[in-house]
Amino acid sequence: MKDILTGLDRYEAFLDTLEKELENLGNKRIAITYTDIKHFKYINDTYGYQTGDALLKDFATQITKNNKNMLCAARVYSDNFVTANRVPDDYTNEAYREKILELNHKWETKFREEYLNSRLQFCSGISIIDKDSRNFDAETAVSNANLARKVAKEMESDSCVLFDRSMMEGIKREVEITSYIPKAIAKHEFKVYYQPKMETETLHLIGAEALVRWQKPDGKFVYPDEFIPYIERSGQIVDVDYYVYRETFRFIAERLREGKKVVPISLNVSRVHLNKMHILEYVKELFEEYKIPSDLIEFELTESIYLDNTKKALELVDGLHKLGAKVSMDDFGSGYSSLNLLSRLPIDIIKLDKVFLKDDNLQESDKIIISCVIDMAKRLQITSLCEGVETLEQSDYLKEAGCQIQQGYYFSKPIPQEEFEKFMDEND
Ligand code: C2E
Ligand code: CA
Repeated sequence: MKDILTGLDRYEAFLDTLEKELENLGNKRIAITYTDIKHFKYINDTYGYQTGDALLKDFATQITKNNKNMLCAARVYSDNFVTANRVPDDYTNEAYREKILELNHKWETKFREEYLNSRLQFCSGISIIDKDSRNFDAETAVSNANLARKVAKEMESDSCVLFDRSMMEGIKREVEITSYIPKAIAKHEFKVYYQPKMETETLHLIGAEALVRWQKPDGKFVYPDEFIPYIERSGQIVDVDYYVYRETFRFIAERLREGKKVVPISLNVSRVHLNKMHILEYVKELFEEYKIPSDLIEFELTESIYLDNTKKALELVDGLHKLGAKVSMDDFGSGYSSLNLLSRLPIDIIKLDKVFLKDDNLQESDKIIISCVIDMAKRLQITSLCEGVETLEQSDYLKEAGCQIQQGYYFSKPIPQEEFEKFMDEND
């Protein structure tokens, strides 16, 4: 049975042929190559579906023509293709990967010339079966190649990756997490914890940072570093951030209604928001809905967001300022330390990363850097905050250096809302 558009095998027929080839594998090696076309949607959107279809047909011809090692080929769906080829004996697995990579580059050049302005890229994952790994059935072999393809798609340059077993764990976890997120949101498994911030001069509570926690039904916690990288890739961080923002607004509004003490709370902003900028609209709606004073909300953008896309980051800072919120530069010093950015960005607060306080006893050189950054911030009229304060000595030094706000385990870990309410009442 054939795929009408491309004339290649239908996927079911491909699996049947591959299964038979695997049964007669002997000492041979078979490479399953799973390829998809990155930015294919651009062709459909810009040139129309007919052109998109013609490109798929053309690609099908390219992968099959003059290929004496080809065993079978199919279009799995849309722009996803799979081929099975015999690996020539004089090729190592790595040499085979390089050959596919070279072909992908060749096709990219050809197609980019034909379809101007397209950034088409061919991403391939390869799973090679030999007599030692013959325990795979055809479907598993294809799914392994597909896993490798997903890894390839993440990479900037080397868009062709060989499958290896270690990929399974990471990707299985990623799929597990990303497919469960909508349910986790609906079932309120995400909780907002608050970590107090203290004014150095008086050691009084001056604010807090909202940090997300994911508590599974069995009571176990999944920490942000374990799931945020995955949901940033899938884009779902936007929904989780919005959930945290809404919870925080709701909490502040409730305290205000009850006439209780409130402090400004800062919210983390993922880099993913820069792609859509819908965040400004969402925050505006929250201010309208909960009617809380805008100076009770701050936003933390990591230093790397400013570096990745300064123009977009500036637009975002500007938009947040227009809504009346303050903006900080988070994790300052954890990456490139963009000292020159500091003077160009209209930020209100700089958060020195906890790496500055990595030792209990501060080294003289660390002290020099910390006090220089604090001095510089002061001259630029930017408030300085140091995170990761764990000891009295560190806290004392920060006071000496003129750092205005401190945050860290020495004062409190991030705590659930009820505990934070007690903390606020005690610090009234
Ligand atoms: P971050 O924004 O740099 O947050 C500070 C992290 O340092 C938090 O880890 C906090 O618990 C931890 N921390 C605070 N004080 C100390 C200390 O004294 N010593 C040490 N060793 N660590 C301290 P957490 O809560 O696990 O969050 C990790 C990262 O996940 C955050 O780094 C932030 O980038 C991200 N994140 C957390 N919640 C959210 C959220 O709601 N939205 C987004 N977009 N990102 C979030
Ligand atoms: Ca932060």
